[in-house]
Amino acid sequence: MENTPFYFYDLNVLDETLNTVLNNTKSDNFHIHYAVKANNNKKILETIADSGFGSDCVSGWEIEASIKAGFSPASIAFAGVGKTDNEIAIALNNRIGMIHCESLEEILVINEMARAMNYIPKIALRLNPNVNALTHEKISTGLSENKFGLTVLEFAELVTIMPTLSHINIVGLHFHIGSQITEMSVFERLCERINEIVPQYENTIGTLEYLNVGGGLGINYDDPDSEIIPAFEDYFDTFRWGLRKLNVPIHFELGRSIVAQCGSLHTKVLYVKKSENKNFAVLDAGMTELMRPALYGAKHKIEKLNREAVMFEELAYDIVGPICESSDSFGSDVILPELKRGDILSVRSCGAYAESMSLRYNGRQEIGNNLKRQVSTTLRMVKTA
Ligand SMILES: *Cc1c(COP(=O)(O)O)cnc(C)c1O
Repeated sequence: MENTPFYFYDLNVLDETLNTVLNNTKSDNFHIHYAVKANNNKKILETIADSGFGSDCVSGWEIEASIKAGFSPASIAFAGVGKTDNEIAIALNNRIGMIHCESLEEILVINEMARAMNYIPKIALRLNPNVNALTHEKISTGLSENKFGLTVLEFAELVTIMPTLSHINIVGLHFHIGSQITEMSVFERLCERINEIVPQYENTIGTLEYLNVGGGLGINYDDPDSEIIPAFEDYFDTFRWGLRKLNVPIHFELGRSIVAQCGSLHTKVLYVKKSENKNFAVLDAGMTELMRPALYGAKHKIEKLNREAVMFEELAYDIVGPICESSDSFGSDVILPELKRGDILSVRSCGAYAESMSLRYNGRQEIGNNLKRQVSTTLRMVKTA
């Protein structure tokens, strides 16, 4: 067994996911921009770029990494509530396709920087549609209390000062209401709000060249094997129907749903210990390699990978990491076959927001990854056993 911990990526699953997305969107004017923040692993970015997707970046580094991985600058969108001047310069210098703006002040800064370069970038306005994503409050972004998007007040002010903004070309509208959304009714509600907002935009700003509806499609964390490919058909059908009256290209920014199920975190049991009422399994991976449980109370399915000749009884474990924080736990009362030192566990659905969120806290060093085309037969057998 290789050194642990490491991220394990099954590129066949990634290919199958990308093909499903392409098959569900090829006959429409739909364009997918992969949200790089979900996973910026070089090989994964290259694979997604090869499939012809655009990218959605939230930092200057992500813009540069996307270009290096093969995304064409024209297919890159730059979003984020706090872009620095240096990052805006990276976007302008690389002539990326579009900048998604989240405040009036940001628009003024871009206009000035672009004027100095004698260049007119395309920008879109991120508006807050006030739609409840029915997801975890920490990953909900589309309610008026969230920090994201132009406020209604700022939109009105933008309309009045627009004639003075000579070095921006406002061409689109952008929405993103949250992540890990599994209720299609949430996206239906978003479509309803978009249908209300677009006429207001066209009456004041001008013709809409494209509409970006964000990302957010959720995945099955409880039982990943039953749904390795997320519900793309329902998702795209919802927008196809909900926005059927608008005759504009629709951009999507999917992150999690594209990469989550192709990855897992492989980790070793260092120690097993018992208290009066609990069994603890201490792992060599923790919140520094997978932060979601500590950050949002997220739950990932955990499996024991090594196969034994004898069947052990199942016990309830608190699965904890080595980091000096009580929140460094992947779950309590997780039912697993009896564990012992040296056992290998697979924490599933770690292709998104795991490697890209990893931390150096406790002096932890970057861990490696293992990208495979084929899941080895041993792993497959263990999974199905
Ligand atoms: C994070 C983010 C996404 C991707 O969200 P997923 O839930 O991973 O699909 C898309 N757009 C913006 C603006 C984001 O911040």
